[in-house]
Amino acid sequence: MAADPTNARPPLLSVANLRVSIASDEGLAQVLDGVSLDVAEGRIVGVVGESGCGKSTLVRAVLGILPRGARTESGSIHFAGEDLLTLDERAMTRRIRGRAIGFIPQDPYLALNPVFRVGTQLLEIMRWHGDGSEDGAGPFNRARRARHRLWLIQILKAVQLPDPEQALDRYPHQFSGGQRQRLLIAGALACRPRLVIADEPTTALDVTTQLEILKLLKRLVAEFGVSMLFVTHDVGVVAQLCDEVAVMYAGQSVEWGGTGELLARPRHPYTVSLLACHPDRADGLVGIAGQVPSALAPPTGCRFHPRCGKAMAACAGTKPETTPSGDRHTVACMLYGVPDA
Ligand code: SF4
Repeated sequence: MAADPTNARPPLLSVANLRVSIASDEGLAQVLDGVSLDVAEGRIVGVVGESGCGKSTLVRAVLGILPRGARTESGSIHFAGEDLLTLDERAMTRRIRGRAIGFIPQDPYLALNPVFRVGTQLLEIMRWHGDGSEDGAGPFNRARRARHRLWLIQILKAVQLPDPEQALDRYPHQFSGGQRQRLLIAGALACRPRLVIADEPTTALDVTTQLEILKLLKRLVAEFGVSMLFVTHDVGVVAQLCDEVAVMYAGQSVEWGGTGELLARPRHPYTVSLLACHPDRADGLVGIAGQVPSALAPPTGCRFHPRCGKAMAACAGTKPETTPSGDRHTVACMLYGVPDA
């Protein structure tokens, strides 16, 4: 996907034609097959699709934490002008993961260690990476720890956690699910990252808390001047939070556009089906027939063709190319341009 032509600055994060496979006893799974997306400075980009579409693998690829047996076959991941695929593990650990790129995990109940106070856990992140105003190197002395603690309390106030100073001395079980997610958001922001990746951070929360967290994230992105890549299976969440959205299906990016435009005028039949599945639809729920195919043996041609109500003969044999379709809107579907033979 090309960079947004209306934005003269290069995107903060640019994933281009990324192909990742995972070898296992069952065979070789092509889990990402030519995924591209951009995240511009200060923007929130949603990645939406059903479970098994490769969203979490994309996140892992960006963070450099692909599972055992995974191999990046081709493509690039540029972040702040640097190709992350060329960095070694030391550079990813010291400079990128947790520091320049913060991460909000999916499950606030699993992400915090129950035997340590939350202050200890959050300050440990800053002990490694600094608080964004320093390089994280040098002696870790009392003065530095005190400075980190003060900054952390400021962030806990920003995420609207009650009694932030006392909170640091409590254990995870003393917080509700929503409060734990606020703690994890604080952890993601602690080192003043440029990009925050959120992997379905509201999935484990009730609807009311989910809404509060989404509002909070939107405010924090502006307040802290970060960009965000937000992974979700819920198009309703995308509508509330994201500036742009990339739709993924079976390891491929199939549609991209500004959120308002894409949700109002979806092009790809998969996006249309996803929207039809959303419970907020007034005209009743319509499911998507079939299942996301296994990455071990994906369908030829368009990977959506076995489930697509608009499939044509060519769809089973030729992979659709990504083509522009309207204003800042691209789609990979033969209904919008059949590739030359
Ligand atoms: Fe459906 Fe064909 Fe478009 Fe794939 S390329 S989404 S099968 S119409």
